[in-house]
Parts: sequence; C-alpha cells; structure tokens
Amino acid sequence: MPRRRRPEPAPAHPRHPDAPVIEFRQVALTYPGPPPVEALRPCDLTVRRGEFVTVVGPSGSGKSTFLNVAGLLDSPTAGHYLLDGIDTGRLPDHARTALRGRRIGFVFQSFHLLSHRSALENVALAMLYASVPRTERLHRARAALEQVGLGHRTGAVPGRLSGGERQRVAIARALVGRPSLLLCDEPTGNLDSANAASVLALLDELHTAGMTVLVITHDAGVAAHGHRTLTVHDGVLRERVTA
Ligand code: ADP
Repeated sequence: MPRRRRPEPAPAHPRHPDAPVIEFRQVALTYPGPPPVEALRPCDLTVRRGEFVTVVGPSGSGKSTFLNVAGLLDSPTAGHYLLDGIDTGRLPDHARTALRGRRIGFVFQSFHLLSHRSALENVALAMLYASVPRTERLHRARAALEQVGLGHRTGAVPGRLSGGERQRVAIARALVGRPSLLLCDEPTGNLDSANAASVLALLDELHTAGMTVLVITHDAGVAAHGHRTLTVHDGVLRERVTA
C-alpha cells in the first residue's frame, strides 16, 4: 500500500481579501475530567479579515477555553478549526506552533514584558527565532513602536512607562511579526480608565488600518468597542444580536 502523504501546511493561495481568518466548524472542547466539562460546546464561527470582534462572558463561562482554541494553544476535542484557510487539526505539533507564531499576535492582561530590556528590545526579541537579521529586527521594532505612538520612548524600560504605554509596547510586540490576527485577552484588565481608553483607541486605530482584532473580556464596556460581539455562557458561544 502506498504511504499517505503528510498533510500540507501551506495556506490556500490566493486568498480573497475578505476570506475568513478564523473559521470554526462545530468546534468544541471537553476537558476529560472526571467529571468531563463541556467548556466549549459545538459552535460555528467565521471571523473575516479586518473585523473587530469582542467575546464577552462571566467568569467560568468558557472565555479562556475559547481563547486557547482560537490562539492554537489548545486543540479542540471535536470539529475543525481553519486559520487563514489552513485546517489546523491536520497539522503536526511543530507546524501548529509555527503557524501560531507567524499568524497570531497575542496581547495579555499582564503585558509580559522583560523588565530589564528597553521597549525596543522587548519588541525586537519577538523576532529572535524568526531568522530576521538583527538590524532588520531593530528597524521593524522601531516601526512597530511608532505605529503604537511610542516612537519617542523606544529606549525606556517598562518600569519607566505607564501601564497604558506598557500595553502599547506589548501590542507593538504582537504586531511586529505582521500577524493575521491580534488576539487580546483582557487587554485593559490591569489599567485605570484613562490608560484603558488609550489602549482601546489604539485597537480601534489598528482595526481602521485593516487589522483583524479579537478581544476577550468580561467587561461590557470593553465589549462594546467591538463592531461585532459574541457572548459565551456555560460554554455556548453566540452572536450578540443588537436591536
Ligand atoms: P472563563 O475564562 O470564562 O473564566 P474557562 O474557559 O476558564 O472560563 O472555564 C470554562 C469551564 O471549564 C469552567 O467550568 C472551568 O471550571 C472549566 N475548566 C477550565 N479549565 C479546565 C481544565 N483544565 N480541566 C477541567 N475543567 C476546566
């Protein structure tokens, strides 16, 4: 019998400009337990290029589970997840990791910046394993910091920056690899209202410039920034229908 070929990780090219970035086909995740927990019940979801989508739900509703699946940090236990048209379930682990690194920029509540490195180095380090030469890394890092309005603070270490500025550095780090998707987990959770507003304004700007943005939050005010909002309750993901 002939050997089966390994699945092809290459994206389907050419892609239509508003082709889906995220496509869930009856995606679900059940933690095995015991007892088993149906943390994400079977759902279909399409997020197109350039959309700004928020996902809101109370604690324990399944937001992190959704984030982990959408961010390729965890595999669904049922269904198919296509990222940029690539069926992620067919990829071996190393190819999924590479896909995640190339296509998804993560922004977390707690910034995750290296405290003894400058803003520029924090952003440039994100490309360390992408075989980008150092001069090019620094050039791109500077451009990403300019894009988030921090071109004048490239030499500052995180301790010398406000919370909002730190999150901007983290956003620049997420953007520098030119991802298809900016995936943000409670991006304003550690910020006061003025800094939170500035970070949300930046996400709005990035969306206006064409970036696909997905924000997971428990905060209804943050969720209202999305041009489209999904709710999650007891593992059930639904489109919020506005009157
Ligand atoms: P949220 O992020 O909205 O707080 P989670 O996605 O963390 O919700 O959790 C959804 C449900 O799955 C909860 O009932 C939680 O207790 C359960 N859960 C989360 N992680 C695990 C795990 N590793 N094993 C078993 N159950 C889990």
